[in-house]
Amino acid sequence: MDDSFAVHRHLTEHQAERAVLVGAGYIGLEMADALKQRGLDVTLLSRSKTVMPTIDPALGLMVGEELERNGVRVLTSVSAMRIDQAADGKQSRLSVIDSAGGQHPADLVIFAVGVRPNSDLAHSAGAKLGASGAIAITRRMETNLSDVFAAGDCVETYHRLLDRPTYISLGTIAHKQGRVAGENAIGGDRQFAGALGTQSIKVFNLAIARTGLLDHEARSGEFNPLTAATEANDHKAYYPGAVPLHILMSGDRATGRLLGAQILGAQILGSRKAEISKRIDIVAAALFQNAAVEDLNDMDLSYTPPFSSPWDPIQMAAQTWVVATRDAARSNQVGMAETAA
Ligand SMILES: Cc1cc2nc3c(=O)[nH]c(=O)nc-3n(C[C@H](O)[C@H](O)[C@H](O)COP(=O)(O)OP(=O)(O)OC[C@H]3O[C@@H](n4cnc5c(N)ncnc54)[C@H](O)[C@@H]3O)c2cc1C
Repeated sequence: MDDSFAVHRHLTEHQAERAVLVGAGYIGLEMADALKQRGLDVTLLSRSKTVMPTIDPALGLMVGEELERNGVRVLTSVSAMRIDQAADGKQSRLSVIDSAGGQHPADLVIFAVGVRPNSDLAHSAGAKLGASGAIAITRRMETNLSDVFAAGDCVETYHRLLDRPTYISLGTIAHKQGRVAGENAIGGDRQFAGALGTQSIKVFNLAIARTGLLDHEARSGEFNPLTAATEANDHKAYYPGAVPLHILMSGDRATGRLLGAQILGAQILGSRKAEISKRIDIVAAALFQNAAVEDLNDMDLSYTPPFSSPWDPIQMAAQTWVVATRDAARSNQVGMAETAA
């Protein structure tokens, strides 16, 4: 919050007109949205090929287009190398030099390049750290030091699907871990149930949400993932204001187990919302229960034409996944038969 108040003060006191944002993760994107709403000229530099590298690049491209549609200058595959103080009399006080030689004038530069756990104090007191540098804890949120519990951005997070510690810094997780640590610290016996990496974000008129594992994350957990893409209207097309939702559904080819989903779409339709975060939460709830992709089809979800379809878009995405998996298995069998012949 201190940083946020400092940015706010700086914008007001210095009448800043140009901002350069370094980093296109969700915080950089939210800053781009917020600063543009305040009327600033915004440039966003991203080292990754598409913005928001925590989602599939195909969706990341759409987010980049939304930023550009709203006047944000988006530069991908470049790093910020240097910030020069502009000579007196120049329009802007700073100039950010990127790895492609570009120069970007700025009154304000914001770095949003990721989070590192602040675990030095605990480490110096003898707390063990995990591979990520975060404090290693049990699922009861105990450190290796007796009577010392830890929770939040400074600790490793048990991942429910991967069944091992990961590092995910989110407020949703910090709250749950804090409750477990607090309860155990006063004599209770509670376990942290595990994270799924569920998150949602607004970028101008888009909502983007994900839960579970991307393919490369799933492979690191010894799953054999298949991800299928579906485009489905958020509600019945004959009812005004329907918008397409882009859904990626992931599951394990061998077991059919649900591994995750990503959804992107326009969020505000007149006075209503496309319920993208509600939809990702349905998938998150199914993931939490170790459901199969096909189980999504059996769920009794609500329907009325202004809000959904008899098959909700996430159920249509589940059906696409089932067909894609069968097709992939069949072509694999044909391939093997041809090789054998
Ligand atoms: C811009 C931004 C947007 C975010 N948006 C979301 C979102 O939409 N959804 C979501 O789930 N998460 C979001 N997060 C992440 C979320 O804020 C963090 O995961 C969460 O705040 C972590 O909680 P925490 O208590 O571990 O750490 P913090 O909230 O960082 O609190 C740590 C506190 O400890 C204090 N402290 C540190 N060292 C010491 C010390 N030695 N002695 C005493 N006090 C100390 C700090 O001053 C601070 O007050 C966002 C983060 C940022 C930066």
